Amino acid sequence: MAEVLQKNGVSAPRARWKHLDKILTRPGPFTDEDWVPGEDVIEGLSRTKILVIGAGGLGCEILKSLALSGFKDIHVIDMDTIDVSNLNRQFLFRHSDVGQPKATIAAKFVERRVPGVKITPFVGKIQDKDEDYYRQFTMVVCGLDSIEARRWINSTLVDMVDEDDPDSLKPLIDGGTEGFKGQARVILPTMTSCIECQLDMHAPRAAVPLCTLATIPRQPQHCIEWAHIIKWEEERKDVTLDTDDPEHITWLYQKALSRAKEFNIEGVTYSMTQGVVKNIIPAIASTNAIVAASCCNEAFKIATNTNPPLGLPGGNNYMMYSGDDSIYTYTFEHLKKDDCPVCGNVAKKLEVNGDMTLESFLESMAEKPEAQLKKPSIRSEEKTLYYQSPPSLEEQTRPNLKKELSELLENGEEVVVTDPAFQISFKFKLLFK
Ligand SMILES: [Zn+2]
Repeated sequence: MAEVLQKNGVSAPRARWKHLDKILTRPGPFTDEDWVPGEDVIEGLSRTKILVIGAGGLGCEILKSLALSGFKDIHVIDMDTIDVSNLNRQFLFRHSDVGQPKATIAAKFVERRVPGVKITPFVGKIQDKDEDYYRQFTMVVCGLDSIEARRWINSTLVDMVDEDDPDSLKPLIDGGTEGFKGQARVILPTMTSCIECQLDMHAPRAAVPLCTLATIPRQPQHCIEWAHIIKWEEERKDVTLDTDDPEHITWLYQKALSRAKEFNIEGVTYSMTQGVVKNIIPAIASTNAIVAASCCNEAFKIATNTNPPLGLPGGNNYMMYSGDDSIYTYTFEHLKKDDCPVCGNVAKKLEVNGDMTLESFLESMAEKPEAQLKKPSIRSEEKTLYYQSPPSLEEQTRPNLKKELSELLENGEEVVVTDPAFQISFKFKLLFK
């Protein structure tokens, strides 16, 4: 097919993009007055160097849609290899590819299927690459399931912005799905709300302290974990919990539901029970397709200026999609936070009990929706309070963990909390209750 098309001359290979060319070769109701349609726009789109992070469920869809939308210089990063369980939705992979790196196989498949498109794979972590690498791209599209990786690329792109150099600003288009729900958002680093500003949109999954479960549940998931960890042990400890047994899940679901009622918490469902207990993020191919397509349309609009994209300063930047109960979509402007640890510059005010130990304070950083830190270190303006590494410093500062905050700090003093996993410093102004 490709050969035949090429023999027919220069214009024939554009047959694939015939419909797209209609919006690239003439002005439309949404184009600016000084926008010049035609060859230059098409050329610009094919020359746009775009990076896709993730070649899994969302990544396969994103690579396919970008290639079919006229992007011809695509790069993809993924560290994973193909597992047999991926094959139901990651449609660029075949059974014979199991065990091979996702990035390489996905790139080859799309290149074969859409002649003229070049996809450069990198098998590895995003953290293996530095700013020089990210600087070569016009924009970045993320199709990730890990919040850690999103936070890393977000802070990297924010740090890269140089006010005197407009090319240093790389739009970040982020897609995410969970079952029937998903979101697509566009971030202009430093100009609009970033992933860290929006972190509380992702409730933390793990690391709920046992005391929260046992005493004051706040989320439906807490009630399920309570049934799972505490109630089963109390009432059915002679039976080994089998998470594939519907009777066992139903039992946990009913226990969780009655606890939720007691605390006026809504939202406990059978499928949520199954998800929490099995600790799975359900993946639904069609949700991936919807969210990925939306991300690719935004990438196309940013690259060509045919239509105003999501994410312009002062405009909507976040599209949420929910298919959980019929269909609902909502697009809104998520505002930038002045006290965002990545793109803001103001210390966040935090009320704490002065008699709280430093250790419990650091543990609470894991649970806070806007922090979600794993191994935090902390220092005040005056001194190092606790550092996780190097070992000598850890040993030296360890005794502070048992001390109360009021022993270590003045009321209203600022502290900086860091976590090596994210390259992010949280500034808090601690106010004693
Ligand atoms: Zn921010």
